[in-house]
Amino acid sequence: MTSIGFIGLGHMGGPMAANLLKAGHAVRGYDLVAELLDTAAAQGILPSHSLEDVVEGCDVVITMLPAGNHVISVWNQLVAVVPAGTLLIDCSTIDIESARVAHNLAQQHGCPSLDAPVSGGTSGAQAASLTFMAGGEDEAFAAAKPLLQAMGKTIIHCGGAAMGQAAKICNNMILGISMIAVSEAFILADKLGLSQQSLFDVASVSSGQCWSLTTYCPVPGPVPTSPANRDYQPGFAAALMLKDLILSQDAAATAGVTTSLGHEAMALYQRFNDAGGTAKDFSAIIEMLRKSQ
Ligand code: NAD
Repeated sequence: MTSIGFIGLGHMGGPMAANLLKAGHAVRGYDLVAELLDTAAAQGILPSHSLEDVVEGCDVVITMLPAGNHVISVWNQLVAVVPAGTLLIDCSTIDIESARVAHNLAQQHGCPSLDAPVSGGTSGAQAASLTFMAGGEDEAFAAAKPLLQAMGKTIIHCGGAAMGQAAKICNNMILGISMIAVSEAFILADKLGLSQQSLFDVASVSSGQCWSLTTYCPVPGPVPTSPANRDYQPGFAAALMLKDLILSQDAAATAGVTTSLGHEAMALYQRFNDAGGTAKDFSAIIEMLRKSQ
């Protein structure tokens, strides 16, 4: 049994902390939102009302926060109160630079650290079936792995500091681009008189096959479980896709790399969010693309 302090009990962090508890670990939880502490307490997590309290007696601290500035602010406070040797794991999706800053903070205070962003969404968080992409030293990864396995199914060590975030950003750039590609293909098929089902039947077993087509198909019908069949309720919200595409373009600019389609995908998702698509599933971008014909 490991004593874990979990900071950030939102849509993802709440169920992730609950799964650590179910796996037999001692879990303390902290969030700025009082109702989330009540929900955590009802599940058996020990609620904490301060950052100092949540780390009390913990071997490991996990953060699951909105963005890089939150992570840096919390980790700055963490390293001031946890003993050297405490393992710090950040599971948030954040920019590469902030991830590097967080690792450096931990290193300066003698704490092993890991960036371990996830994919799999809220359903994966609840079902403990998340994919973790981890960056950090081998020792930190080895110590964290059993805990990540309690929250996820696939755990991949991607390399050193910030390489988990790099993997997440690159993966989601593929996802954003491929959803737009699949949407455009359905729009074109429609104009050519080709039925949606026929396009799906061919592309899903041909070289056009991809996750955006076969799991999150943006038109209702061919994949009954895709968000298109429930008026595009997320799933994976368009606001989060935009966030990840912006991270990809920040990373590309810093690395001096041009990703033309990544840039165009970001611009289209920005337009979709500005037009009110924020809370819809990201596959709903097909509606905007269709309207602009
Ligand atoms: P969320 O907004 O539901 O949860 C974040 C929580 O952090 C909030 O409850 C907030 O009150 C808390 N918080 C913020 N600052 C804090 C502080 N200083 N101290 C304590 N608590 C603080 O967000 P989420 O959907 O759980 O996402 C968390 C992270 O996971 C994000 O980086 C997101 O991009 C990533 N992610 C989300 C999904 C998803 O489907 N929701 C999927 C993959 C990755």
